[in-house]
Amino acid sequence: MIDLRSDTVSQPSKEMLARMMSAPTGDDVFGEDPTVIELQERLADGFQQEAGLFCPSGTMTNQIAISVHTRPGDEVICDRLSHIYNYEGGGIARNSGCSVRLVHGDRGRFTAKDVAENINPSDSHYSRTSLVSIEDTVNKGGGAIYDFEEIKTLSEFCKKSALPFHLDGARVVNALVETGVSWKSYGEQFDSISICLSKGLGTPGGSVLLGSKDFIQEAHRTRKVMGGGMRQIGILAAAGLYALDHNVERLKEDHRRAKKLGEHLAELPWVERVENVDTNIVIFHLADQRLAQDCMDALKKEGILALPFGTHQMRFVSHLDFSENDLKKTLEILSKLKF
Ligand SMILES: *Cc1c(COP(=O)(O)O)cnc(C)c1O
Repeated sequence: MIDLRSDTVSQPSKEMLARMMSAPTGDDVFGEDPTVIELQERLADGFQQEAGLFCPSGTMTNQIAISVHTRPGDEVICDRLSHIYNYEGGGIARNSGCSVRLVHGDRGRFTAKDVAENINPSDSHYSRTSLVSIEDTVNKGGGAIYDFEEIKTLSEFCKKSALPFHLDGARVVNALVETGVSWKSYGEQFDSISICLSKGLGTPGGSVLLGSKDFIQEAHRTRKVMGGGMRQIGILAAAGLYALDHNVERLKEDHRRAKKLGEHLAELPWVERVENVDTNIVIFHLADQRLAQDCMDALKKEGILALPFGTHQMRFVSHLDFSENDLKKTLEILSKLKF
């Protein structure tokens, strides 16, 4: 099977597993796991942030950040396509007691002007706007990348408005290898950053939250409350260190293969339109009211797994285990596909 459902389906390589097996460990709830400390420091340093906190998932790092930045009754400004709003089980309301103000951006990306228009007046009728969160790349926006100049403008505006600025950077490394913007100058735009190691970077799990020392100290308490403290988890952090050494630059290959998929799909009679392919995610719209469910079933019969992304929309995601040969086979299968 060629699995294009997500970039989370790749298997840890032998080399990654070897690094995990030899990792020195300690009790991370006591803050004593040397491998976790190394990973946290490496990412904090890379993104020009003071400190980091290793967590089981990107949902947890996002939810912790939201909880630390806000008080119950506050409001979070985010895009209507954002993961924090759509795919975290209603966590903003459940964990932090906050409401959301949804911006209708361009493929999930919004501007400082959008933020300005959505900040509530400081009047007791309204909830207090207390956080701005963006996603880069935008998953539901088909892997769309923010223009770095816009991020700088947003960052300045948030600073001026005394609003913390959070990045859901589940796939921020995809954005960075594609744009060539330095990790440091990118990282210093934000008050907190969540990074996933289990997407394109290919580890079996784990995300890191970055921020100031005070912020991370409070995040540590919230991680405890959410039940996210793990013990000798350096074995998992080691996979992250391995990924940072070996799986960063190669993300460009995922992007190149996704672009090839997009170009090929655009030529097919049963495809109406393909969204711009900026990184490793390809979203396409089926022609003539064809159903995504039928497309998925037909692909499966030919050995390709993919996910519907709406009634008439499909998504392909390239990753570490989607090889050049798999690409070739996929293009052949797509050319012949009938449904
Ligand atoms: C995957 C993802 C997350 C985190 O998801 P987990 O499955 O909890 O690790 C957060 N934001 C975006 C945009 C994602 O794609």
